[in-house]
Amino acid sequence: MLLEAGPADINPWIHVPLGFSRTYFNSRINWKYDSQPHPQLQGRQLYLPRGKTLGGTSAINGMLYIRGHHSDYDDWHRQGCVGWDWQSVLPYFRKSEDQARGEDDFHGVEGPLKVSDQPYRSVLSEAFVAASEQAGIAPNPDFNGAEQAGTGYYQITARDGRRCSSATAYLKPARNRRNLVVKTGAQATGLVMDGRRAAGVRYRTSAGDGVASARREVIVSAGTLASPQLLMLSGIGPADHLRQFGIPVVHDLVGVGSNLHDHFNVYTSFRCAQPVSLNEVNNSPLRQLWAGMQYVVARKGPLAANGMLAGAFTTSDPSLDRPDLQIVFLDYSMAERTKTAVKSHPFPAFSLMPVHLRPDGRGTVRLQSANPLAQPAVQFGFLQTEYDVQALLAGIQICRKIARQPGLKDFTLDEISPGSEYGDRAGLEAFVRKTGISNSHATSTCAMGVGPQSVVDPRLKVHGIAGLRVADASIMPSVVAGNTNAPAIMIGEKAAAMILEDADRHAF
Ligand SMILES: Cc1cc2nc3c(=O)[nH]c(=O)nc-3n(C[C@H](O)[C@H](O)[C@H](O)COP(=O)(O)OP(=O)(O)OC[C@H]3O[C@@H](n4cnc5c(N)ncnc54)[C@H](O)[C@@H]3O)c2cc1C
Repeated sequence: MLLEAGPADINPWIHVPLGFSRTYFNSRINWKYDSQPHPQLQGRQLYLPRGKTLGGTSAINGMLYIRGHHSDYDDWHRQGCVGWDWQSVLPYFRKSEDQARGEDDFHGVEGPLKVSDQPYRSVLSEAFVAASEQAGIAPNPDFNGAEQAGTGYYQITARDGRRCSSATAYLKPARNRRNLVVKTGAQATGLVMDGRRAAGVRYRTSAGDGVASARREVIVSAGTLASPQLLMLSGIGPADHLRQFGIPVVHDLVGVGSNLHDHFNVYTSFRCAQPVSLNEVNNSPLRQLWAGMQYVVARKGPLAANGMLAGAFTTSDPSLDRPDLQIVFLDYSMAERTKTAVKSHPFPAFSLMPVHLRPDGRGTVRLQSANPLAQPAVQFGFLQTEYDVQALLAGIQICRKIARQPGLKDFTLDEISPGSEYGDRAGLEAFVRKTGISNSHATSTCAMGVGPQSVVDPRLKVHGIAGLRVADASIMPSVVAGNTNAPAIMIGEKAAAMILEDADRHAF
């Protein structure tokens, strides 16, 4: 049985690649969390969209297909996550994948997750790639191949102009199986505990409360923000914290909700000398109509791509031996981005988004209430160390350098953001603290490992509890240096394999 709090994935914008600009605000299919105020971000609360539908966040994300750096997984292995080194996880990435470019040592073609090149390359994205090469970043035709560093074009989890979410890839083909029950609109409110064994799940629907009993085991896959919340509501977590809310402690596990890790980014934006950006489409009903017609008739045009066609992986300091910065090139720019709307600048412009991929800072997910329907309290650890600030400042300078190269010369007019307002180093740090946001890649709140801060073991079983696993982005010991959807799906594949192995071994 699969319990999903949100509805089925019938909203048409889910399946249109550029539709994520719509689902970003839709509270029917998006949890729309708010973080706690962050002292290190001038007291700001961050808006945290998360998918609330079949497919979860893979149904509303930006679809960039990136696995992270090979050494990220080797680091996990060195920390005690045996079986999670790069050579061990690569077969699960390949197994999940249906790569449009064909099969090779790194890519598979028989999996359900459709990975494709974007349907077109814009003049701006081509100019960006040329300019980043001129700025000293080597070309890279495949960020998920032998080498991550370099500049090039992103692949996305889509095919023929349709998003491929984890529900499209995995659930849809299995829906008619007689041994699968999918309940949508069913929010898990707690685990049924039989001593230190998970015996089932309590859930709430609009028709009332229900209980699902587990003959074998319960697998929690509610995501980095909700999985630790569900464990804590069920008495598994830091004992002192649970007692504050009157929750009987089943197992004092300090790592639950600790170690929240995420990428952090800002935007640099430049006014564009030619009307070739997506701002013109966003600002013109006529052009939107044209884009809609192109999509409906041929699954082509801007709606069939994600507006982030190209990018780069590089280092904030030449002494580093692996990328700690991702530069995402956007064919548009944002004048305003809030919880309810994104507004483009009313003129042609583009953005380069530096993302810090290896922050030191860790945060927490805690309860705000024992009410399972309340949001958890999310506190990030952004910008707490000198390195975390410095890396992003270096990222801004790299974006500026790229924008000044001959490749972008015909397009770059003045810098809109940060702009001259934030001149010196102190000014730029203020800009980062004032405008920086979560890159929506939160992980590690149910971290896998063997130490006292870990929550699950390398077979994803919750320490000290029988019949309970966690399988989602929350189990990453540290966030990988890249977008997190492909790794989350790899985790699902590996979890499935381990569940089957254990079932065979114990002959349930
Ligand atoms: C706006 C945005 C853009 C992104 N862009 C990219 C990108 O371009 N590329 C990339 O690789 N990654 C991207 N990501 C990140 C990536 O999508 C996520 O890291 C990944 O999908 C996380 O998967 P998950 O399985 O851990 O959790 P989720 O996909 O969030 O799944 C959790 C599921 O559990 C359900 N759930 C939660 N609580 C309960 C409950 N109590 N009861 C029942 N169901 C519950 C949720 O509704 C959801 O369906 C983006 C994220 C966001 C928010």
